[in-house]
Amino acid sequence: MVNSPKTNSQQETSEEYLYDFWKSLPFPLCYVDPLHFVLDINEKLEQVFGYTQVEIAGEDIEKFFKEGSSLEELKKEILRKGLVKKEAIFLAKNKKEIPVSLLAIARKDKQGYFNGYFLGIDNIYENEETYSPLELKGQIKEKTRELEAKLSELKNSRLALLNMLEDAEESKKDVEEERERTLSIIANFVDGLLNFNMENELILINAEAEKIFSLKNQEVTGKSITELAKISSLESLIKILSDSPKPTKTKKIKEVFKKELKISERLILEVSTIPVAREDERTGTLVILHDVTREKLVEKLKTEFVSISAHQLRTPLSAIKWTIKMLTDGDLGELNQGQKDFLEKIYISNERMIALINDLLDVTRIEEGRYVYELTKVSFVDLIQKMVDSYENEFRGKEIKFSFKKPRTVPKLSVDVEKINLVFQNLFDNALKYTGRGGKVDILLKHNKKEKEIVFSIKDTGIGIAKDQQDRIYTRFFRGGNALKIETEGSGLGLYIAKNIIDAHHGKIWFESEEGKGSTFSFSLSLK
Ligand code: ADP
Repeated sequence: MVNSPKTNSQQETSEEYLYDFWKSLPFPLCYVDPLHFVLDINEKLEQVFGYTQVEIAGEDIEKFFKEGSSLEELKKEILRKGLVKKEAIFLAKNKKEIPVSLLAIARKDKQGYFNGYFLGIDNIYENEETYSPLELKGQIKEKTRELEAKLSELKNSRLALLNMLEDAEESKKDVEEERERTLSIIANFVDGLLNFNMENELILINAEAEKIFSLKNQEVTGKSITELAKISSLESLIKILSDSPKPTKTKKIKEVFKKELKISERLILEVSTIPVAREDERTGTLVILHDVTREKLVEKLKTEFVSISAHQLRTPLSAIKWTIKMLTDGDLGELNQGQKDFLEKIYISNERMIALINDLLDVTRIEEGRYVYELTKVSFVDLIQKMVDSYENEFRGKEIKFSFKKPRTVPKLSVDVEKINLVFQNLFDNALKYTGRGGKVDILLKHNKKEKEIVFSIKDTGIGIAKDQQDRIYTRFFRGGNALKIETEGSGLGLYIAKNIIDAHHGKIWFESEEGKGSTFSFSLSLK
């Protein structure tokens, strides 16, 4: 079939040699005649595509390719060009569609006439068993679809991320603006402000506080309260902020409180602290330094004025008292009963005025820090008993039943007797004044051995104190609405003085009261 080159030494004919060569070529090959009928195929083609020589020989080459594989074109081109390369889909015996690349080489006879062509069929995929072109296409499509879906998902995620980023940027801007606003409020705040975190480190100090303590923000921020205590200008502030008077590692800011801090004669501060919390979680403490120098000065002037006025009033009131006494005693001539009764009333009113003046003087002394205490060891039972005895007639006069209950033995106490008597007097006076005719007053003295303290209480069945007025009871000049109505005498200073005296003895004073039912006033003093 093919023209064979001549060999000299071998016995086999050149035709046989070429045939063997052709058969054993390692790629699929067939020989096609000018009318495109397959004449022969090699072994490799048989192996790869599953056809036998008999099945394929004599068949139109088109039969082995998928429709649309442009075999027509190949047929035309091979005549024109002599060499054609093409991609096509080969139909294997097992019906698999195998993408192949074709190489057609025209063969001419000695006269140059077209004599058919060799068609090399190269399987694009090495393992033709695994891939069928249809499956492959399907898979490719599937993968492409998957990839496209992934891509669009990625695009969406990117878009979402960009949006989130934009939102985050916006919120960050809002937060920063809010922070700037807060910081500028803090910076320009008229009061000094110091903010401590939960580790008791100073995280913020405003300009006013810098000015008060003559220091710079950079010198103190970030420092712990223990380190701050070493800075001389801050020493007194840290002292009142700390749990203990001496700086220790475990210093902590106290809960809400108000205290006075005298920086100099011309600068008095009111220090208050408030816990700072974010969504119920404590984040630190804010210390507020409010300048009260002016208020203190006004208060001082007021106290001085009251003190001077009271002193000035006391002398003429004493003169009136002694003059009335001389008159009623008959030193200036005998008086009739009517005149005596009249003078008695003037005498009582004058006494009240003297008592009021004395109260005012006590208040001014307390406020000026001149209320000196002299302690002596006394029996409380004796003090109270004397008080009960002195009030006995008045209680009886109002038909008030009274009792005094006490333990068999009570240890002696170190107190300022005069001042403690003033406390008793105020409490007895109130029980008497605010309890109606036929009421009851119970006095009780207890010795709490466990707490090492004694507790005094006086319980009455009087007018009581309205709930909404109870928190003002120890303020100067306060008088309850119901007390004013029953027109009893009173200055509203008694309980203020009593509380100051008990506080000065490191004791505690408290009361329980219900309007219309009665009140119990108590105080405790430590035996330690
Ligand atoms: P004063 O008795 O001179 O008014 P206080 O300071 O002793 O002043 O008392 C202040 C106010 O407290 C009284 O005006 C009264 O309203 C109320 N109060 C005090 N003790 C009693 C009491 N035992 N019962 C009812 N109200 C009382």
